Parts: sequence; C-alpha cells; structure tokens
Amino acid sequence: MPVPHERTSKKKFYRSPGGAARVTYIRGKSGRHHCAYCGGLLHGVPHSKGVAGTRALSRSQRRPSALFAGKLCTRCRATAVEEAAKVKSGFKAAEAVELSLKPFVLEAMARVE
Ligand SMILES: [Zn+2]
Repeated sequence: MPVPHERTSKKKFYRSPGGAARVTYIRGKSGRHHCAYCGGLLHGVPHSKGVAGTRALSRSQRRPSALFAGKLCTRCRATAVEEAAKVKSGFKAAEAVELSLKPFVLEAMARVE
C-alpha cells in the first residue's frame, strides 16, 4: 500500500545501477503567481522553482523592480497609483475608493510623493 501522497503524485520509472526498474514519486510543479486584485497572471516572477529554487536567484531575478511588482499586474498598478493621486490631491475622498483596492492605494500614497 503506498503512502497516501504517493497515490496522487506522479510516478516516474527509472533504471537503477544494478539494472532493476524502480519507481520514484515526483512532486508537481508549483503554480504561477497571480495579481492580488484581479487574479491575472504576473509577469517576470519565477514559478515552479519552489522556495529554495527562488531563494537561490538574485534579488532582481525574483521580481521586477516596479511599484507593486510581484503583487499587482500592470493594469491594477496603474489603477492603484491613479486612485492614490486622486485621493492625495483631494479630487476624491478616501472613503470613495473601492474597498478591495484600498490597501494598495494607501500603500501607493505612502510611497509616492
Ligand atoms: Zn490585476
């Protein structure tokens, strides 16, 4: 009887040095990173390398250097920065910002002059 996780994980057969066929269970690839606001795919972020594989990369290889990179997609970043500028200039009330976008708007306000 296999260990429970072996029932669902992928099997890979290999030939041992002694000539016997053996089976090993391989892990699936980890998923891609998604935008925290809209759920779209994030570009420039490594995936399916695992935690150790990602940590082995240099800092600039882990995520782009743009604001909210690795968190929000380009469109949502633009929206958040726009809203932050509106709130900061008094064009829009902070309460009028969409609730799910608010944490990003507040972060953008703190980081953008
Ligand atoms: Zn998005």
